[in-house]
Amino acid sequence: MSALDTPRVRFAPSPTGKLHVGNVRTALLNWLFARKNGGTFILRIDDTDLERSTKAYEDGLREDLTWLGLTWDETFSQSDRFDSYKAAAEKLKKDGILYPCYETADELDRQRKLQRVQGKPPVYNRHALSLSDEDRQKLESEGRQAHWRFKLSGNPVTWKDVVRGEQTIETDSISDPVLIRADGSFLYTLPSVVDDIDAKITHVIRGEDHVTNSGAQIEIFQALSDHLPNFAHMPLLVGADGKGLSKRLGSLSMGELRDQYIEPLAICSLLGKIGTSDPIEARPSMSVLIEEFSFEKVGRAPARFDEEELLLINGRLLHETPYVDVKDRLDALNVAGGEALWLAVRSNVEKLSDAKDWSETLFGTAAGKIEGEDKAFCAQAADLMPETVNQDSWGPWLTSVKTETGRKGKGLFMPLRRALTGMDHGPEMGPLLALMGSERAKARLNGEAG
Ligand code: GLU
Repeated sequence: MSALDTPRVRFAPSPTGKLHVGNVRTALLNWLFARKNGGTFILRIDDTDLERSTKAYEDGLREDLTWLGLTWDETFSQSDRFDSYKAAAEKLKKDGILYPCYETADELDRQRKLQRVQGKPPVYNRHALSLSDEDRQKLESEGRQAHWRFKLSGNPVTWKDVVRGEQTIETDSISDPVLIRADGSFLYTLPSVVDDIDAKITHVIRGEDHVTNSGAQIEIFQALSDHLPNFAHMPLLVGADGKGLSKRLGSLSMGELRDQYIEPLAICSLLGKIGTSDPIEARPSMSVLIEEFSFEKVGRAPARFDEEELLLINGRLLHETPYVDVKDRLDALNVAGGEALWLAVRSNVEKLSDAKDWSETLFGTAAGKIEGEDKAFCAQAADLMPETVNQDSWGPWLTSVKTETGRKGKGLFMPLRRALTGMDHGPEMGPLLALMGSERAKARLNGEAG
């Protein structure tokens, strides 16, 4: 098997915040691609920023990925690999393509403003390349610490992007990227390349906000090794209105969705399909999503993330979900009625927690709603209610109420539904009547709490 037949991909979140819909989509597409092609999915923790990275966020990322079903085959943290990054930096310095710079942030800012006024692109002017050893010593003796920039070739960098097709970045139109800050810490750019080389990553799959980065990173790959992965840059997520994700949606975390009783498979169904040529609908399992996945289906248009659609998909999934798959969670929610209740109400829930409302409706003590003019009618219906009821009792009972009262259609049916459930709509009444039992049903029809 060639390397291309067995992809090695990585999802590389920074543990500086919670996993949100945008980065879950990146994780999911990496995972689907790996699983579809018998490849390896690696979880890389990008924690070079030791100050902002926390163990709690890292644990949260792992918990959320596990909850979503996005299991990884290998994992490592960048904070364990500083020696490798230092070795790579030394090589680049020795080759003269990682060079020390001494400008402060303010000086760089002023420089950019000046360039803008002059109508020039705000590209670093490489002043530091003209410094002599003496100049550098002087600057350091004044207390300045060097930060280090990678010297781009100035030539166009071209690659065939798996999603975007032929891409070219003119490296003379971007600044030499800073790889090491003045305090000695690494920015993401170099460690990521070193890791992708060492982990033999075959495909870098990430958001299109990294396209320019890729131009610079490809030159770093070439400076360090013969290994160059393929790149797949995914269009970014936008909101339902086609505009950028709102702040709230952009930071919508898996924890929040879990707390709202959104099913992980609903999230994966939606995030796996938006921006592709497949229809957006609930998929019955991750295996089906894997089966259907192909980069050829991923378009270049932004992917719309619509919360309404998420709810719709969530409901559709639950309508088909067997009791065994939700039993534990229903128990945790204190939903009474067991399998019979679930089967009776599942086609009417949008979220699992809605089953709790139905359980309270059926077994709680709230009296139903009876309009003044329906009082006598409901009392008569109560008298006709058999002593014991089962799933099949509703039809014959309704017929007897119809015969005795002369009512039909909505005028017959609706007051009974309202009296029994307090609502104008809901699941089929037969199973609901069987669940609430004859005594409770009679009490409600008589306008009593029961
Ligand atoms: N930690 C980087 C980010 O979240 C990873 C980008 C990449 O996949 O290379 O932006």
